[in-house]
Amino acid sequence: MTDKHYPRCSQCITKVCENRGGKPGEPPSLEKLPSFCPMKLMPEVYSLAMAEYDKPSVREFARLASVQEFQCYERLPDGFRTRLPRIEELIQFARKCKYKRLGIAHCGGLAHEAALLTEVLENNGFEVVSVQCKTGAVPKEKIGIKADEKIAGPEEWETMCNPIVQAMIINRSKVDLAIMLGLCIGHDTLFIKYCTVPLTVLAVKDRVLGHNPLAALYTGGTYYQRLRQKIE
Ligand code: SF4
Repeated sequence: MTDKHYPRCSQCITKVCENRGGKPGEPPSLEKLPSFCPMKLMPEVYSLAMAEYDKPSVREFARLASVQEFQCYERLPDGFRTRLPRIEELIQFARKCKYKRLGIAHCGGLAHEAALLTEVLENNGFEVVSVQCKTGAVPKEKIGIKADEKIAGPEEWETMCNPIVQAMIINRSKVDLAIMLGLCIGHDTLFIKYCTVPLTVLAVKDRVLGHNPLAALYTGGTYYQRLRQKIE
């Protein structure tokens, strides 16, 4: 186990915080916390965070999210089973929160999926705003992209992805919840930075793996071993 002194939950083999097998009212013993555990390194942050849950709206939102999490499983005689794909989770959670108007921020490369998602959400009673990344038709040269950096080729027009305007339109449309659908890396970061309404992610973009980036990790012992090679 590493001795690096910054939070590294991904390297923890104790998972003390999960307190598996513990009973209500019996918190775990903290003696076995690894040195890099955030509970050890930053104990003061926990009381700050818990104070946030004392705010009624935050507490209720957190409660509904955990109820939704619970409802994604069913307990059968032979064990737990999962029940819901994320789209159904999204619909159920939006209903729990009494959301009426949802806003999809999608990539132009996922226009078909955005249309399908709109149909699904509308059929479930929501009003659906949607904004594609290319909205505004601003050429990529505006942000300093050179001719030989355009995907379509140096002689072609190429509209920039505009996540800031996507966020501003979603904000102004007064949606109850924004839904990111397949924005590129970096463009998604900007969208998150400028989005001021509650936000969730339905899918992230992975052009190679059908928008399932984890597939590269799942096959990291075989086809994607190269990812795990240490760069000196
Ligand atoms: S919080 Fe501490 S005990 Fe829990 S996973 Fe992180 S390092 Fe491990």
